[in-house]
Amino acid sequence: MGETALSIGANTFQFFTRNPRGGKAKSADPQDAAALMKLAEDNAFGPLLAHAPYTMNPCAAETRLLEFAEMVMREDLQLLELLPGNLYNFHPGSHVRQGAEAGIEKIAAMLNKVLFAEQRTTVLLETMAGKGSEVGRTFEELAAILSKVQLQEKMGVCLDTCHIFDGGYDIVNHLDAVLTEFDKIIGLDRLKAVHLNDSLNMLGSHKDRHARIGEGNIGLEALTAVINHPALKNLPFYLETPNELPGYAAEISLLRARYQA
Ligand code: FE
Ligand code: FE
Ligand code: ZN
Repeated sequence: MGETALSIGANTFQFFTRNPRGGKAKSADPQDAAALMKLAEDNAFGPLLAHAPYTMNPCAAETRLLEFAEMVMREDLQLLELLPGNLYNFHPGSHVRQGAEAGIEKIAAMLNKVLFAEQRTTVLLETMAGKGSEVGRTFEELAAILSKVQLQEKMGVCLDTCHIFDGGYDIVNHLDAVLTEFDKIIGLDRLKAVHLNDSLNMLGSHKDRHARIGEGNIGLEALTAVINHPALKNLPFYLETPNELPGYAAEISLLRARYQA
């Protein structure tokens, strides 16, 4: 994975800890992990970002699904101790008719069960588009989850540009105001990573369909402002655009050319 990142001009990457739509963990080889850590260090990589599977719903109504989520999160955090000092991102989940408040309680309870004092991974809540009954569409919901977690220093947030745009935050015309609001409600010190995506849909559409950089309704100008914003420019950026490797290579070089170091 590290070599692939280098081959397309990246200096970090995101990976799924297991099949995004499945459950079984990838086998963890400590030697592979050590080699990846060395490659990352030798090439001054930003933090690696592990993404939990979409099938993990930490605020599910059903016990069976909650147990599955707990098992996945525990296993993933254990696995990530082989890659110390990196990031783990997950979708807060869908409350499915339980209401956002009940969802928030469950997510925080899950985190309080699985986070451990010795872990070296920072766990990130992803900002969501608000599709269906997704929790985490508003900064307030994310802040509410964070406020209920005991091991505060293990937690952070990953901002997805497509999701917040679809969620109704106008980063095209009011990036500064959106980030000021984020700071007021969550705190910019909590922001550890950015998913850089364009959106196929409109502001406030609550859809969550990613577009290639410059081919969606956020657009290249607004995304250029995102990567150069003083509050964001030193964060790691991860592309989740619909691309194969050559497409990612092209987007990385496009964005690098527009980045003011
Ligand atoms: Fe995600
Ligand atoms: Fe994302
Ligand atoms: Zn998405």
